Amino acid sequence: MRRPKLELYTKILMGLVLGVIVGVIANKFGAVQFFSIYIKPFGTAFIRLISMIVVPLVFASLLVGTASLNDIRKLGRIGGKTILFYLTTTSLAIVIGLVSANVFKPGSGLTKETQQQLLANYAEEAASKIDTALQKPGLGETLINIIPKNPMESLAGGEMLQIIFFALMLGIAITMISRERAAPVIKFFEGINDAMIKMVHIIMEFAPYGVFALIASIIGEFGLGILGPLAKYSIIVVVGLFLHVIVIYSIMLKIFTKVKIVDFFKGIRPAQLIAFSSSSSSATLPVTMECVEENIGVSSEISSFVLPLGATINMDGTALYQGVAAVFIAQVFGMDLNIGQQLTIVLTATLASIGAAGVPGVGMITLTMVLKTIGVPLEGIALILGVDRILDMCRTIVNISGDATCATVVAATEGQIEPVSIYD
Ligand code: ASP
Repeated sequence: MRRPKLELYTKILMGLVLGVIVGVIANKFGAVQFFSIYIKPFGTAFIRLISMIVVPLVFASLLVGTASLNDIRKLGRIGGKTILFYLTTTSLAIVIGLVSANVFKPGSGLTKETQQQLLANYAEEAASKIDTALQKPGLGETLINIIPKNPMESLAGGEMLQIIFFALMLGIAITMISRERAAPVIKFFEGINDAMIKMVHIIMEFAPYGVFALIASIIGEFGLGILGPLAKYSIIVVVGLFLHVIVIYSIMLKIFTKVKIVDFFKGIRPAQLIAFSSSSSSATLPVTMECVEENIGVSSEISSFVLPLGATINMDGTALYQGVAAVFIAQVFGMDLNIGQQLTIVLTATLASIGAAGVPGVGMITLTMVLKTIGVPLEGIALILGVDRILDMCRTIVNISGDATCATVVAATEGQIEPVSIYD
């Protein structure tokens, strides 16, 4: 009964490929306006549809998962493993980024002329990003902010960490009240949870068209020509991302699980395509949860905790890209980053990813914080703004793949994975 999912994947892939072709043609013939008026809205509608499910799905599934736990200590153990996994893979990702940038020196591929041109063209956009970044709260405040003052406000504002915190506490409290009182509450949220999963299925039928519209309008707007002057930098980022997924995640799966690596990557393909098209790990969350549970067999108790947390605090792709970007900008400005500064990048980029929601372009904002810490001119982000959207699409694939790997590893070590075959 799982075959339709693979067919859906093929349809989404076709939507994506067609989107690229149509986008390139539109860009070439200046049909961008037509696209943004008539095609883009279908993509936006799709993103809004899947985003609509995120809050109720996360809240209901996490609450049901926690309330049905008969052992609270288990929650602490799962939490500990999750955080450890996320911190480890994120640090490895930045190291891969830093090593690639130091070895292949992307900054050397840029002429003085292109450099001036990029700095001038993107100065305004860079200034507004820097402004947003400088207004961000520090780490201490971010951690305190995890405790909501008003959970209704958190739900309304989609504050993921606050929602997770409240759902966990409420779930724990439910296990402590009488069975008679707890049962109807759990039943109610189980019903909501099931209905949300049904909604994911319905909305995914629309995915191929949504993906087509998103890709066609993005490529139509930016074109692929923009990659030209920043080709070396972009290739280093993309190859680094690819290596991280293939090497690090495969090793993790091999060491900790019995899941076949090929089956794992086949299982999460639909989520990867949605991540690529939407550039948002938060919007992709319902699809990631669905793939990990249905195609890989991770229990919903684990996935409903590990994945929403990952969508907010775990961004391996973003971290890797920040490593490359920081060194690239420094190289262009003729600065040599010493080992201390590079270690600072590892630390700040890891911390910066905590509390930054998985939405398009957030990696650029957090990059500004990294640059500030190591003393690289912030205006430097203007150099890479032009290719940011395309690279954002790629790094979001890695972000959600990291979350899915973590869920699979934690589930395997907790004995909460039921092997499924996506071919039966
Ligand atoms: N768009 C990425 C995500 O949602 C974050 C980023 O790198 O900008 O995961």
